[in-house]
Order: sequence, then structure tokens, then C-alpha cells
Amino acid sequence: MTTSSEAEITRADRLMRLPDLIKDLLLSVGEDPNREGLLKTPQRVAKSLQELTAGYQVDVDQLINEALFEVPYSEMVLVRDIGFYSLCEHHLLPFFGQCHVAYIPDGRVVGLSKIPRIVEAFSRRLQVQERLTSQIAEVLLKKVKPLGVAVVMEARHLCMEMRGAQSKNSPTVTSAMVGVFRSDPRTREEFLGFINSK
Ligand SMILES: [Zn+2]
Repeated sequence: MTTSSEAEITRADRLMRLPDLIKDLLLSVGEDPNREGLLKTPQRVAKSLQELTAGYQVDVDQLINEALFEVPYSEMVLVRDIGFYSLCEHHLLPFFGQCHVAYIPDGRVVGLSKIPRIVEAFSRRLQVQERLTSQIAEVLLKKVKPLGVAVVMEARHLCMEMRGAQSKNSPTVTSAMVGVFRSDPRTREEFLGFINSK
């Protein structure tokens, strides 16, 4: 208990420093933080950064614990086209797109509405797409103990597009396949068929 409230204070203290840091950043890129259009920018950016990194405050294990149900169902559960927004940890620029999550229950399911919230909890942190993809798969594997999990993420990376290193319209695709999605080609094909049928 003491630890979590101490961590809370530390985060609040760190966040209070953000507006000053952003003012410095504006100066560093050659701007005048005192011109009218920028006066409130440090506060706005600080608030926006808090939102974009709010995932650090989410206890994903607990989020899932609240919505685990014993159900004798063993067909594929699929949540497709979950929109997500994240920040790449190398450039602090957005990467965003669609996430598809499937699992095959082994007598236990997680409330469907929790799956987009799990995606959001891990997305709203500084990330690389590969780790984000496997974190979603791993937490479902650990908590729901299904026969298999599959996660596919397709994303545009502004750090590549705005900086001209990669052509636009070619999303980066990452996937994590565990259990039967890895061992059974038919299950994998069925999943890929579902997510590609638009
Ligand atoms: Zn980047």
C-alpha cells in the first residue's frame, strides 16, 4: 500500500515538471514559448502526454481478473479491427492501426469488452510494435490459460512516414501466435481468413 502511494506521488511530481521541460523543448527548436499561440502549449502537451502514457497506471492482471468466467466453450473467440494508438519509444512519435486478437478457450473466457481495454493499456505506453504485440498475447495466455492465442497488429509509423524512410501505405505487420495457433496450421489459416475477410 505504502509503495503504491509513494509511486503515485513520484509520478505526480514528475508530471508537474513536464510543462517546464516542454517550454525548454520549444526554446530548443528555435521557438518563442512566450508568443501567443504557444502560451498554453506546455500545459496542453503535458496533459496530452499524460493521456498517451496512461497505460502505465493500468494493472492489466487486475483488469482481466474482474472478468474471467468459467464457460464450456472451446471455439475461437475473435475480436477484430481494434483501433489502437501508441508512441514509438525511439522517436516519441505515433504509430497506430488495427489489432486483431483471437484465442481458443479451455473452459474459461474473459469478458469481450476487456480485450480492447487490454490493447489500450499496453498501447498507451512507449512501445515498439513487436513488444506490444507479444505483451497482449502473453497476458491473455497467462491469465485466461487458453489453448492458444493469436495477435496481429497492422500499423502506420509516423516516425518512418514523416521522416521519409519508408513509403506510405505499407503498414508494418507483426504477429504473435501461441499454442494451437502455432502448432495447428488449420487454426492459424482460419484465423487469418477471418481477419482478411473485410
Ligand atoms: Zn520510431
